This record gives sequence, C-alpha cells and structure tokens, in this order.
Amino acid sequence: MRKRERDKFRTLLMQIRKDVTREIQQDVQEGREGEAGDGRDTYDIASDERDREINLLLGDRERKKLEQVDEALQRLDAGEYGECEECGGEIASGRLEAMPFSRFCVTCQSEFEQTQRTMQTDSVAVGAARYPAGADEDEAT
Ligand SMILES: [Zn+2]
Repeated sequence: MRKRERDKFRTLLMQIRKDVTREIQQDVQEGREGEAGDGRDTYDIASDERDREINLLLGDRERKKLEQVDEALQRLDAGEYGECEECGGEIASGRLEAMPFSRFCVTCQSEFEQTQRTMQTDSVAVGAARYPAGADEDEAT
C-alpha cells in the first residue's frame, strides 16, 4: 500500500475513533443526568435501570469498535494494513473504504460466513435426528 493511501485510511480511522469516543462520552453524560433529580416513583426508577442496561450494551459495542479501530491503526504503523489476516492477500480498497477496520479479504470473510451457516445447519440436522424414527416399521409388523 502506498503512503498516500495509508494516510487516507489513517485519517478515516482517526475520524471513526473520534466519533465513537464522542458517542461513549455522550452515553456517560446521559447516564449522569439520569441519576440526578428527586421525587420519582418506582416506575421511573425501574425504567432508568433498563436505560442503564441499554447504555451498558451500547457502550460494549462502541468499545469493541474502538478496539477494532485501534488494531487497524497498529496494523497501519506496522505496515500490515490492508493485508488479509487469513490468507495474506490484499484487501480490496473499496472494502477498506466501506469498513476501514476490515481484517479479512472478501473471499476469506465469505468463507467464514459460510462456515458459520454450515455449523448452524448442522445443529438443525442434529435436532432433526432426535425425532423418533421407524413409525412405518411398527405398522408393517
Ligand atoms: Zn483472505
């Protein structure tokens, strides 16, 4: 990957990093505001707790994204950015533009997805095998 391209993706990644960090900070701020204020009934308190749970879940997802962005920036510094971690091949720049923290090329990614689907199909087949068989045989005898 040329330096100009690396710089472009670094800028993209830094922008995502800034956006996600701001979202996390907003979540924390909203959480604090929710704790202030008096005279609320039990229903309000209960829904507050639900909101906090949702915020925690959101925070986890954002933190995960932040991790991915940081990893991509590390790969940029190491000169490994844009290489598929599975096959070492080049990740298409169009894919990187859409998802700057992609770690796998389209081929490997779709293979992973196929494997996941196959595993799901297998577990369905295992479930089907549990159904009692041989009802016809009983009739024959
Ligand atoms: Zn690959």
